[in-house]
Amino acid sequence: MVNILTPGPTRVRENVRLARSLETTNPDLDIEFYDFYKETCDKLSEFFNTDKPFFILSGEGILGLEAACASLTEPGDRVLVIDNGIFGEGFADFVRIYGGTPVMHSTDRLNPVDAAALRACLEKDSEYKYATLVHCDTPSGVLNDAEAICKLLKEFGILTVVDSVSAMFGEPLSAENIDILCGGSQKALSAPPGITMLCVSNEAFAAMEARKTPIASFYANILGFKDYYKNKWFPYTMPASDIYGLRAAIDNAAGDALLFERHRKIAAATRAALTAGGLELHIKSGYSSTVTVFNVPDGISCSDILSRVRKDYNIMLAGCFGELADKVIRIGHMGEGADKYAVGLALEAVGSVLEGLGVKVKCSMRDAFFEALDK
Ligand SMILES: *Cc1c(COP(=O)(O)O)cnc(C)c1O
Repeated sequence: MVNILTPGPTRVRENVRLARSLETTNPDLDIEFYDFYKETCDKLSEFFNTDKPFFILSGEGILGLEAACASLTEPGDRVLVIDNGIFGEGFADFVRIYGGTPVMHSTDRLNPVDAAALRACLEKDSEYKYATLVHCDTPSGVLNDAEAICKLLKEFGILTVVDSVSAMFGEPLSAENIDILCGGSQKALSAPPGITMLCVSNEAFAAMEARKTPIASFYANILGFKDYYKNKWFPYTMPASDIYGLRAAIDNAAGDALLFERHRKIAAATRAALTAGGLELHIKSGYSSTVTVFNVPDGISCSDILSRVRKDYNIMLAGCFGELADKVIRIGHMGEGADKYAVGLALEAVGSVLEGLGVKVKCSMRDAFFEALDK
């Protein structure tokens, strides 16, 4: 099997794969499945240390972002789209699709969103139904201070939607000031793709219930999940095997006392190693512990690097898309990928492939990585 160190999907541990192979019941009719589903959701609330309920929806991470916008947006609503990356900007599309008016707060893409500058804007105009923010914008790896920004937005009475798909379980996060927190199965949680997790506040539900127009989607309607347990009714059949696997992955994460520390140390050592080798990190500050992004050296083809790393070392790293296509390489060290031996080997692979392509690498990046880890 190829060793995947991409920023999602990530490697899936054996106990998660085995849990997916268990015999399944009829999840619509078997009352016990509602208990299993609710316990799994409660474990997520416990992990995030919040009283707010979680919901598990069948669909990739994108479904969560769309469901948040579909459920909150009414035609004509003004929505603040906080944008310092490709996913940040992308929220505007969902807002528009559901008839809202996105108002962009676009900032430079090499640094996290500055809360003081945002406050100055909100003091002039804060007439927004909700705001969207991406925790880790995966294409660049920039990490926004979701807690501080959501606290600020709540001061102005604005509902908050946070995409933490590629950060949650790799970066600590309080859901306290988040009205809809979106997560996915295939990133740092290291379950297979296909599941969205949403944590929803009472205020978000109240906003959905106060709508004058119906939610313009069935599959992406979060309100349809609100009373599933009381009514013993899901809007559609739940993917039981996916949820069995997800549960095992949540248990893995919840039982891992060093989860965040390991992510933080591996990310810091990866940055130290790349820099020591003479490569350039793509962003200037706000590095996520889940992914490290470096610039492809001038005159070298991104796809040549990736294909040689794949062919010679059987390691899969990621390039990027959109405005960063061919410009950067992304090393995902999230979830099962937050493994020092795997990342050390990937750095050795990048170093040797770059040398082979004529780039002078200043040191053994693998050695630099382990030295930095030991510090
Ligand atoms: C991966 C990811 C998503 C979900 O995208 P999918 O295509 O559904 O995997 C959403 N937001 C961010 C920031 C992501 O990294």
